[in-house]
Amino acid sequence: MEPTAKICERCGGRRFATFEVRGLAVARVCDCVPPCETCGGAGFVRGRNARGYNETKPCECRDLFRRVDRFSEAQIPAKYRENAFESYESKTPSQARAQARLYELAKTISAKSRGVLIAGPVGVGKTHLLVATLRYLTLERGISCRFADFFHLLGNLREGYAQGRSDADLLGPLSTVDVLAIDELGKGRNTDWEYSILDELVSRRYNLGATTLLTTNYLDAPPVEGRSTRGFSAKSVVETLEERVGARIYSRLLEMCEFLTLDGPDHRKNP
Ligand SMILES: [Zn+2]
Ligand SMILES: [Zn+2]
Repeated sequence: MEPTAKICERCGGRRFATFEVRGLAVARVCDCVPPCETCGGAGFVRGRNARGYNETKPCECRDLFRRVDRFSEAQIPAKYRENAFESYESKTPSQARAQARLYELAKTISAKSRGVLIAGPVGVGKTHLLVATLRYLTLERGISCRFADFFHLLGNLREGYAQGRSDADLLGPLSTVDVLAIDELGKGRNTDWEYSILDELVSRRYNLGATTLLTTNYLDAPPVEGRSTRGFSAKSVVETLEERVGARIYSRLLEMCEFLTLDGPDHRKNP
């Protein structure tokens, strides 16, 4: 009789588990993954190339380690470390549509694909869907990603410039990472200087044709009669995303991103 395959309790059969390290989400290959039979755990194999020369190349088993590293390098806050498409519970048709669309994009997106801007009120799971996309891109596809909270990002850049660090040092990695995800675009009281830095970053990614994903609590278009603004940034009723970030950045985003708008549950039905 065949022994029943036991599912690992630590990773649930996923072969990796996530942890918190200094506030950030990291993933590690689970101890249940046996040493590779092909390379004995060395990580590389020797063989001959097409021209008959000896060569060393990475073993196929490295793929799992590489994907797990991609997840850890994405700098996702630890509190979001288990945010996945499967754990997102949509409550409205627009939320279900966004979930399905982002899942589809996560399967097909490449470093030079059009990105997505997710607009919606607080509490509809914009960040959950953003992180779920990064999780899929890193763990399932091994694509380099970077998560950045807009408010913290600008703060870090301000600090970096104050310390005399260069554009190349500060904006370089953010400009060239395959997929950059900016959470809560427009949040905070930001100065013209900070928007000029955002303009520089967006321009760099625009010129590279690099994939950028964003969320915002600002309305992606002026409010229309009959459209609920409940849950959107209080300012967004009088200030749209375009007014918030300026026409230049907004028009770039329109070109770089598909806009998805999420609505919250209709509170008027449950007063
Ligand atoms: Zn395991
Ligand atoms: Zn191997």
